[in-house]
Amino acid sequence: MTSDPSICKRCALQGPTCCRLEPGQEEFCFPLSQTEKERIQEFQPDEGGFALQENTEGFVHNILRLFPGEKERVLALFPRQKFHFRLAVDASGACRFLGSKGCRIPQDLRPYYCRLFPFWVVHNEVSVFDSPSCLARREAVHLLRMFETFDTNAGTVRDLMGRLRLAWGLPPTAGSKPVKRSF
Ligand code: SF4
Ligand code: SF4
Repeated sequence: MTSDPSICKRCALQGPTCCRLEPGQEEFCFPLSQTEKERIQEFQPDEGGFALQENTEGFVHNILRLFPGEKERVLALFPRQKFHFRLAVDASGACRFLGSKGCRIPQDLRPYYCRLFPFWVVHNEVSVFDSPSCLARREAVHLLRMFETFDTNAGTVRDLMGRLRLAWGLPPTAGSKPVKRSF
């Protein structure tokens, strides 16, 4: 099998893609670390691309699911009554950095979560979000095929996850407990 660099373009022709969310779901948008925010701002002056978001119960619950076994660290990073930054969206739920030809931020400067999606890593094990709106996820039958689709591999995904964790001041890996793949 060969990689499919057009997958995200094909996805955009069919549905909302991962650069849009359902209006009203903004609180669940992945948080943006200060490092990532500043890196984007160096490239592009703030044009309303960032939003302050309260650490709601739903948001914290979602982050705890993404970082299992790290409750203490997550609660210290996102205490209730406080706020974090996230990408801003317009009234239709589209990320404000989304242009007519896709993301306006160069690949290397995009938030780590955007660069990782649809992959995720828990306790060093790579998995894929079971997102019904992700065309790549719908078309792929196993993890290896997903790597081929995005021309990536487990090492690159783990490296990106390590950078994301570092940006949040988290240790490079969470621990040793394996989690179930979503395939
Ligand atoms: S920053 Fe770019 S890749 Fe990330 S959600 Fe916005 S448009 Fe999509
Ligand atoms: S990563 Fe998945 S959801 Fe995002 S644009 Fe590509 S195919 Fe669509």
